[in-house]
Amino acid sequence: MLSCENVSFRYTRSGNDVLRGLSLELEQGQIGIVLGKNGSGKTTLFKNILGIHDPKGGKIRLDGKNLQKISRRERAQRIAYVPQDIRFGDLSVFDSVLLGRISHFGLQPSREDYIAVEKILMDMGLESFAQRSVEALSGGERQKIAIARAMAQEPQLMVFDEPTGNLDIANEQLIIQEAKKLAKEKNISILSSLHDLNQALYFGDKFFFLKDGVVKYAGGSEIVNEEVIRDVFDIDVRIVEIDGQKVILGGYNK
Ligand code: ADP
Repeated sequence: MLSCENVSFRYTRSGNDVLRGLSLELEQGQIGIVLGKNGSGKTTLFKNILGIHDPKGGKIRLDGKNLQKISRRERAQRIAYVPQDIRFGDLSVFDSVLLGRISHFGLQPSREDYIAVEKILMDMGLESFAQRSVEALSGGERQKIAIARAMAQEPQLMVFDEPTGNLDIANEQLIIQEAKKLAKEKNISILSSLHDLNQALYFGDKFFFLKDGVVKYAGGSEIVNEEVIRDVFDIDVRIVEIDGQKVILGGYNK
């Protein structure tokens, strides 16, 4: 389980707190979606979880272990990060994804490592890209490779910052479906931000709405309603149910 307890953070001594006693809990294998306006602190929260920033107060634990107290290597084994825009250097697609397994192999990748990478490339429809240089790919294609690499890592927790931002609709769906399948098959937790509320509803098991530096609303899809969305995003929406799935319509600024 991932737990953030009363986490606070600010960028500069004189600046305001961006996180002000934020708490959340995500069970192993659950997909949690962090929702909030631009600038509400989603990336800041992720960077605190990843150890890129250290919280000023509070605790972040994975399986009860305080993440501030474990080594960088252990943290890298347990948590994979897919940032908004990733740079790989001049590597082939296959090698870039294989690098995700570096914490699994010692000096040399084994046959299992190669097989795992081949399977992920196949599942994500990337096999024809395997020998191409990542540098020569579009932003959206690179995003897919970044997600493939995070999957190859088989971490306990994957953190996605707007994973579908650069992708077209078909690739968005593919990524979300693959990530969801993997989370369930391998019991990996995912914490992700997503702009699109309908995608969020389809992808997530649990929703965390950020406002004023805290998680103001948390829970399953039952907590996603018109009032919560109005309070957090300042927009008016209508929610209907189609085939048992909530669908959000509209989204006009008040
Ligand atoms: P989100 O991901 O929800 O858009 P961020 O976590 O990126 O929000 O930003 C939260 C707040 O922190 C914003 O007000 C932003 O301007 C500020 N901020 C983000 N990064 C920095 C930084 N490196 N230095 C100072 N302030 C920052």
